[in-house]
Amino acid sequence: MKTACLVTFGCQMNVHDSQRMEELLRADGFELVAEPEGADVIILNTCSVREKAEQKLRSEVGRLKRLDALVVVTGCVAQQEGEKLLSRVSHIDAVIGPDNLHELPAVLRELEGGAPPLVRAQFDTEAPRFLVNEAAPGAVASSAYVTTMKGCDERCSFCIVPYTRGPERYRSADDIVAEVARLVSAGAREVVLLGQTVNSYRDPAVPMPEGADPDDSQFASLLRRIVEQAPSLVRLRYTSPHPRHVTPDLLRAHAELAPLAEHVHLPVQSGNDRVLKRMIRRYTRSEFVARADALRKARPGLVLTTDVIVGFPGETAAEFDDTLSLVREVGFCGLFGFKYSPRPYTPALKLRDDVPEEEKQRRLEALFELSEQQLRDHLLSLVGTRATVLVEGPSKPGSKTWAGRTQRNEIVHFEAQPDAPFASSLGAGAVATVEVVRANKHSLEGRVESLSLPSAERPRAAYRRIALPLVTEAAKS
Ligand code: SF4
Repeated sequence: MKTACLVTFGCQMNVHDSQRMEELLRADGFELVAEPEGADVIILNTCSVREKAEQKLRSEVGRLKRLDALVVVTGCVAQQEGEKLLSRVSHIDAVIGPDNLHELPAVLRELEGGAPPLVRAQFDTEAPRFLVNEAAPGAVASSAYVTTMKGCDERCSFCIVPYTRGPERYRSADDIVAEVARLVSAGAREVVLLGQTVNSYRDPAVPMPEGADPDDSQFASLLRRIVEQAPSLVRLRYTSPHPRHVTPDLLRAHAELAPLAEHVHLPVQSGNDRVLKRMIRRYTRSEFVARADALRKARPGLVLTTDVIVGFPGETAAEFDDTLSLVREVGFCGLFGFKYSPRPYTPALKLRDDVPEEEKQRRLEALFELSEQQLRDHLLSLVGTRATVLVEGPSKPGSKTWAGRTQRNEIVHFEAQPDAPFASSLGAGAVATVEVVRANKHSLEGRVESLSLPSAERPRAAYRRIALPLVTEAAKS
């Protein structure tokens, strides 16, 4: 049997795309292997959000050249550089952009037949295609990604995504709801809806009313339909929303829909209005704070996490202090922090990258120190409370301790005595009521009080740890 190894970099979109590529490869007779050594095909699913993506790709491909394998580059670097990658990085056999992933099996067959290196990197703007989770019942993980849209129309000045993922295109609500219902009946307990600005979602089959506010969307209606038509879904998450589409209808959905997670990752990027304007974020600090407050008012206890860029061109020390004060004011329980770095093709390239590297590092460290403190305080405040935990699996391979996540996305570890009445039912997808007995630096420890399994078929596949920006993780660069 032919073998393939998939290496994934970057965000949840890429994780989702890699999962779908795995399904395409399996259907084409490939066995998926974890290590590149010995694989017939190696696929590097790349990310270009961070600095030096192409150099990293070059060194990765360099490491692989001693192996006798076809090397395929997919993802954002593939889209960004296209044909140029073939001349600049040797040993690449194919370059496939995110909208062309369905062509992977055909491309591999052409290469196996002796074709020269190939490039497929065309946006499907006329007739968008969406990769669907085709996993069979029993092979469905307890947490599944479902894509709602692709591309981004925002054009934030620092971001390369509109260039690498193209303009916004939406999937029909009927298709999304049908996929969620099928996954839930096949064993998924949690669904994570994906989109670059997921809450700008508009159903292509249902036109928006004439003169609708550009910030308005049909995302809340989509959430309601999913909850109605997949009643055994335990948890519904979405990532990543844009603050300007936190509409009154979305707030009502948070107030009314029980499966909707009590956690929203709401990227803010800066707490200073001048910087926000030059980032082209289309909201002010006070508008962001009002939306964060409204979310928490709609769903008391809701936890917010965020993304922050430090050292954006021209950001002064006082403007960075505004970001720290915003992190305090909103009370984020976790964040992904990044030092600004110029990305090709972005509008911010016209601005001088004038914050020295040491100063960017200092700001990043100050940001993490504050966010870690807020996370510690938050976790400590939960000791003695009860939480509903969706079990992911053993804390570590072979461990007797189990791990799962609360509605707010905190990680909880707990032990189950082998003689406990429910011990034999414990596994990925079980729902445990847990008393929180201790707070660690990034997680909680709990004692199980009871366990339930929702009525749908129990998932047999191992839980895939999802790459959501977690309450308990701060990305350090
Ligand atoms: S909203 Fe802004 S940061 Fe997010 S993907 Fe679109 S352009 Fe990039």
